[in-house]
Amino acid sequence: MSESSKECAAIVLDCHDHGESDLIITFYCQGIGRMTGIAKGAKRSQKRFVNKLELFSTLSLRYTEAKKSNLVFIAEAELLESFLGLRQSMPLYRAATVLRELTLVATRDLEGDNGLFSLLLWALQSLETGRPAMTVLVLFQLKFFEQIGYRPNLFSCLRCDQPFGAARDYGFDGRAGSIVCSRCQGEQAAVLPLSRGTIKLLGSAQNQPLDRLHRLRLSRPGLHEALALMYHYGRHLLQREIYSLKSLGDTHWQA
Ligand SMILES: [Zn+2]
Repeated sequence: MSESSKECAAIVLDCHDHGESDLIITFYCQGIGRMTGIAKGAKRSQKRFVNKLELFSTLSLRYTEAKKSNLVFIAEAELLESFLGLRQSMPLYRAATVLRELTLVATRDLEGDNGLFSLLLWALQSLETGRPAMTVLVLFQLKFFEQIGYRPNLFSCLRCDQPFGAARDYGFDGRAGSIVCSRCQGEQAAVLPLSRGTIKLLGSAQNQPLDRLHRLRLSRPGLHEALALMYHYGRHLLQREIYSLKSLGDTHWQA
């Protein structure tokens, strides 16, 4: 191993051709965050990277940094988890694509990990092991928005500041990222319906570590409102369409 080479755990988020023989790959890396690298000759010499640079593969990566660029040189990759199941099932692939799109859109190269690597890995593993895909997507987004600095407020009304309680109905203001009680809602069309049961469950998920989230169960109507909430909130935060989520919604929860 050369002196300047480094190692990290990395998840493949994107891969495309570069010229005749190289590949450009975008990873999400433990401790580093998003990172883009070039695998020289990867298309010609299949041996070195065979079946490793596929979407969602989790690798132990060895790379060297370039002097004047953020682009790193990928020297070697060892497969840690292939997540083959996610590439063999269309519904799972589409769900995993939501994780990928959100991460690519909301992060920039080399700005640090901040827990997102563990969250991505948890979500990929949950999908691969057959946990209900839509529930995984709700919980992933809930944690994801918090980790990029926009934790949804599910504990008190945006306007009157009264703590969440059983005596009132609530909606969710996707622009402010907060619940609003029925007394404060007025005529505002921007507020999405959100049942008390769903608010309680999402609030509880915010306070649980990843390894305990599998205990939470969303009812079917709860799942639909939670997905709609995450979709509208994410679209507002990122100021763009989340295409993978929108296309899922067309068939699953918006209809
Ligand atoms: Zn209120």
